[in-house]
Amino acid sequence: MNSNPASREATPRLARIIPRDSHPISRSRISPDALRVLYRLRESGFQAFLVGGCVRDLMLGIEPKDFDVATDALPEQVAKLFRNCRLVGRRFRLAHVFFGREIIEVATFRASSAPSQAEEPVEIAEDLIDDLEPSDTAGDTVDAHDIHDFDENLERLVDDSGRILRDNVYGNIDDDVWRRDFTCNALYYNIADFSVWDYCDGFEDVQARRLRLIGDPETRYREDPVRMLRAARFEAKLDFEIEPATAEPIGPLAALLAGVPAARLFDETLKLFLTGHGARSIETLSKRGLLTALLPNVGDFIERYPDSPPVRMLLQALANTDARVRADKPVTPGFLFAVLLYGPIGLEIEKAPREQWHDIGTILDAVDRAVTVIHRRVAVHRRFILGLRDMFALQPRLESPRGRRALRTMEHPRFRAAFDLLQLRSQFGMADTAMVEWWARMQSANPEQRAAMAESLGRVSGAGPARSGATRSRGGRRRGRGGRGRRGSE
Ligand code: ATP
Ligand code: MG
Repeated sequence: MNSNPASREATPRLARIIPRDSHPISRSRISPDALRVLYRLRESGFQAFLVGGCVRDLMLGIEPKDFDVATDALPEQVAKLFRNCRLVGRRFRLAHVFFGREIIEVATFRASSAPSQAEEPVEIAEDLIDDLEPSDTAGDTVDAHDIHDFDENLERLVDDSGRILRDNVYGNIDDDVWRRDFTCNALYYNIADFSVWDYCDGFEDVQARRLRLIGDPETRYREDPVRMLRAARFEAKLDFEIEPATAEPIGPLAALLAGVPAARLFDETLKLFLTGHGARSIETLSKRGLLTALLPNVGDFIERYPDSPPVRMLLQALANTDARVRADKPVTPGFLFAVLLYGPIGLEIEKAPREQWHDIGTILDAVDRAVTVIHRRVAVHRRFILGLRDMFALQPRLESPRGRRALRTMEHPRFRAAFDLLQLRSQFGMADTAMVEWWARMQSANPEQRAAMAESLGRVSGAGPARSGATRSRGGRRRGRGGRGRRGSE
């Protein structure tokens, strides 16, 4: 089963060194800032390697998202070499070297397999949010640092499920490699002679597009259950095949995700769905039995109603998001959670009497209940939850615009996101396309035209701007067709 049994040996072995002429990594594809850091370290007498995802991606011809450097210099020594440097992390000191928007992360070799719960995930997701929502980042920040209280004097702390909570021993490159997750993420590119160092047949695995955990898979997942999500993410992102021994424990161990800090799972969720392969991520998560462990009501809904309009809408929304990421357009976590939770929110709405389905109170209660379910696992930032509530609360107003209120609706900061949601709903028969067209015309109209459109809306006394087929509720509020809870399975 395991094509490379050597990598499961208890005793680490020496690296295979692949010279420059035997691998495809060219310096022209490496960020000049990363090269600057590597050369500076090297000139100062330290070892300096690129490591992790960037080496893997360079081998695959993919443009790396970021460049990570590993060195034998201690964090304080790194800090002395670079003025534009900040040391981060409480448990693991890491150096961040800043070049404008680019951050090169420099990590000192570490001696054991501890997951660095306080490093990359937080930083990367923060970057992501900055990129995604430049105007919406004020306020809360992700804090994956609050994991557990621990004894500063202990070098390693493991909980009773085998999860490593803390580990803080520096080592050399021969040690550093064994703490990494997958063989494809454990290749080192040496700036001294441009060779690639490979301790665990990662080179071969990348060429074969194979995802394989270093060491005993079950132990490695227990140490850090997030590795299961990472497996599904790399399967989606890289189109790698997860080798059987690495894949098998995932389903049985999926429930361990419940013990992972929710802030960290939020970061991972964004990486799964907002970095260009969200449509495939939902597939691989479902296939691996991880979706329900990560987002319980989302997973349940997809299992129960796989071909329903909300699920088809979700898949379409993820595909749209992937296209936007590829085109370097902004995407928002709020919208992501709106489409993920659309089906579960619909189910919550349907618990109320039918005549209340379009009441704002019913809708917001339903949103809150659905959010609460995922919030136990994934700490969705408050600002995104507020955005989500607005998007849902605006749906009835968009479906039944009334006179000049329509103008105010357009001023709402979430109008555009709510409109996008309405448009998506209409594509799957869950909202009236005539309303989408009307709002599209409103948006492209000038102020006088807008006012006239809104007025005429008022004059037809609730008959609606077009053949919306809407009915009037008792309170005089019209209802759009195909409430958000409507499912194909009904
Ligand atoms: P990408 O940047 O495409 O998301 P990556 O492999 O670079 O993928 P990062 O989260 O940036 O992922 O982590 C950098 C490297 O750190 C990984 O390649 C891996 O070697 C190591 N690493 C990250 N997370 C873990 C983990 N949970 N357990 C073990 N090693 C990890
Ligand atoms: Mg990376």
